[in-house]
Amino acid sequence: MTGSKPVEIVGGGLAGLALGIGLRRAGVPVTVFEAGDYPRHRVCGEFIAGLEEGTLERLGIQNVFEGSLRHEGVQWFSGDQAAGKMRLPSPAVGISRFTLDARLAGLFLAHGGKLVTRHRVTGKPEGEGRVNAAGRRRAAGSPWVGLKAHVRNLSLTSDLELHLGDGAYIGLAPVEEGWINVCGLFRRRAGLGGDTPRGLAETLRGSGLKGLAARVEVAEFRPSSVSAVAGFAFDRRVGRGRGVVLGDTCAMVPPFTGNGMAMAFTGAALALGPLVDWAAHGVAWETVSARIHLALQREFRLRLGSAAWLHPLLLNRHGQGCLRGLTRAGLLPMRPLYHLLH
Ligand SMILES: Cc1cc2nc3c(=O)[nH]c(=O)nc-3n(C[C@H](O)[C@H](O)[C@H](O)COP(=O)(O)OP(=O)(O)OC[C@H]3O[C@@H](n4cnc5c(N)ncnc54)[C@H](O)[C@@H]3O)c2cc1C
Repeated sequence: MTGSKPVEIVGGGLAGLALGIGLRRAGVPVTVFEAGDYPRHRVCGEFIAGLEEGTLERLGIQNVFEGSLRHEGVQWFSGDQAAGKMRLPSPAVGISRFTLDARLAGLFLAHGGKLVTRHRVTGKPEGEGRVNAAGRRRAAGSPWVGLKAHVRNLSLTSDLELHLGDGAYIGLAPVEEGWINVCGLFRRRAGLGGDTPRGLAETLRGSGLKGLAARVEVAEFRPSSVSAVAGFAFDRRVGRGRGVVLGDTCAMVPPFTGNGMAMAFTGAALALGPLVDWAAHGVAWETVSARIHLALQREFRLRLGSAAWLHPLLLNRHGQGCLRGLTRAGLLPMRPLYHLLH
């Protein structure tokens, strides 16, 4: 497309790179600014639930999932007790961020995108022609800490395991080359271990998950995969009035849904058409950003509200007891819940 105006994207994570690829395929000049580099480990559960083939096709990113795993069975535990088994209504995708982000970056470059790595944008991340996809917004006083590591030689009881502890939940999800991603969300408290193999085991033990800590302790750790993140918060609704914002910058859903990555891709796909209209067809930026905000709000409102309501249940004893009882009685409405959350 000749005569297209250029788009700048702040943040080369999932939303930024996927949007960049979609725009390049439409002939729009794109620069992505990324504070880090590739490949790199990210704190993430690394299973993607609710990812739609149509979204990937619109963005042209189906091939980056080649060789990824499909997970359907979930065994969940409350403390050290097995509490129930379930099947996801549609399979979740298993792929590490180490591989996924690097593949997206490679595809963006192959489509002629300009990628500026190790460059943290310090000015305003939004404005005409600029998209903010810089990930989690800083939340002062946040009560959450995320911890992850890849381990091997640990046998699973199902495709995926979910462990509910005291103020914590942890997912175990296989990714490539036999590695299993162990990733947890922990309520901040005294005595949390650091981002080392021993620190992860200590944190699990301190969350009432002694059995899981013992399994993790004897596993093989993937070098440099242990990572931690803090200072983030979850949203009940899509942020407004901040220009074009995508992915976690727009709204961050609690990780138990396994839907944050799918939301990053869906948001990029929803923004693609309006941004091409601005770049190539002269539609005003204000019109385009309002259209994108409305589309994101329509798409994500229900799942953000439902996730915000359910999240506290997973983190306290009463809520966990209630879930356990419903599962044992065969009364947990798995399908309707899944559809509300994805
Ligand atoms: C503990 C935890 C577990 C999770 N588990 C799952 C899961 O199992 N499944 C799932 O689907 N989702 C999960 N998520 C959510 C998922 O990780 C996010 O929703 C997803 O990464 C959002 O993608 P994004 O592109 O918005 O942000 P990111 O992937 O974080 O990308 C943002 C990028 O912007 C860059 N950046 C930031 N500031 C600047 C700047 N000023 N200049 C330039 N670059 C900048 C960053 O370096 C980063 O690369 C989890 C989240 C947490 C915290």
